[in-house]
Amino acid sequence: MIPFNKPFLTGKETQYIEEAVASGKISGNGMFTKRCQTFFEDSYGFKKCLLTTSCTDALEMCAILSDIRPGDEVIIPSYTFVSTALAFVRQGAKIVFADSYNDNPNIDHHTVEALITKQTKAIVVVHYAGIACEMDSIMTLAEKYNLLVIEDAAQAIDSYYKGKPLGTIGHMSTFSFHETKNIIAGEGGMLGINDDKYVERAEIIWEKGTNRSQFFRGEINKYGWIDTGSSFLPSEVIAAFLWAQLENLQNIQTKRKLIWNRYYNEFKTANLKHFNLPIVPKYGSQNGHLFYLVSTKPEYRDGFIKHLKTEDIHAVFHYLSLHASDYYYEKHDHRVLPNSDNFTDCLIRLPLFFELSDNNLKHIIKTIIAYDKNMA
Ligand SMILES: *Cc1c(COP(=O)(O)O)cnc(C)c1O
Repeated sequence: MIPFNKPFLTGKETQYIEEAVASGKISGNGMFTKRCQTFFEDSYGFKKCLLTTSCTDALEMCAILSDIRPGDEVIIPSYTFVSTALAFVRQGAKIVFADSYNDNPNIDHHTVEALITKQTKAIVVVHYAGIACEMDSIMTLAEKYNLLVIEDAAQAIDSYYKGKPLGTIGHMSTFSFHETKNIIAGEGGMLGINDDKYVERAEIIWEKGTNRSQFFRGEINKYGWIDTGSSFLPSEVIAAFLWAQLENLQNIQTKRKLIWNRYYNEFKTANLKHFNLPIVPKYGSQNGHLFYLVSTKPEYRDGFIKHLKTEDIHAVFHYLSLHASDYYYEKHDHRVLPNSDNFTDCLIRLPLFFELSDNNLKHIIKTIIAYDKNMA
């Protein structure tokens, strides 16, 4: 069976973990943590980066930093992972779900302004598959209505909007190093901050509501409890693992993008009749995170996935619209979000991982093109 995903190890992970252990400092915010954070700040231009134990945690930090209180509204696409909404719900926010474009799972920026009310505090965008949302329009709206913009860039490492790295455009952004992402640490994440005004408080929230980071830098002579927060920082064991991955970032990205382009070009040439290809807008890039097809009718999908299984190919669907979830359905304002529902019903993700062999890739492509041709 060709798996849907296979976590890639660069070979240096255990060596760096041993170094972290030997250093005698394995709690958080040590040498490897600083190396990883500096790497992101220097390579992409964030004002400040803080490693977290997951992207979910980084999103929770964003909700706290945005000062979300009960009654505040946050605009979020319905076609996303639970955490994007959950982090804000935990602070008491009412989620106002936005629809996707009809040909792209990202938030349809045309629909956002009509969702803004006096209670709206923030817009959270999700760069689905690492492909950029229309950020200029979103930032213009945010400025007009004095809203915060948070980029859920969990899938969007090393991807760009008009040449700007995703995650550096909104006020804050979040990344994931879960084993299904491009760069992994098992479980892990990062908060990116682009507005200086949030840096100091972010460090405090990160360190259980204390000013311990300032203390360790020698800026103050004792530290104490001064704000809300949690234990959001990962241990050095995780950061050491992550460092081995970051050293190989370009290598990993090059390979993943190559596979993505192979899928795209071969299917484009074959002119598939029953499955649409992802759309990368002129303002965006693809970062080899995930390759998907969208069946032109919902009833095509299950048979397609089953057929691929008989050919030893593991393909999977993706998000179930959050506005229709058991947890939020009753709280949703009952607007219909047809495009989000369409991706819920029709999107299929194909295997894409660093070690996907050329033979396996050829087999997947050949199988899909033949299946599409033979469909009625
Ligand atoms: C993976 C993912 C998350 C959650 O990341 P964790 O690190 O597992 O918490 C959140 N949002 C999106 C869009 C994701 O793809």
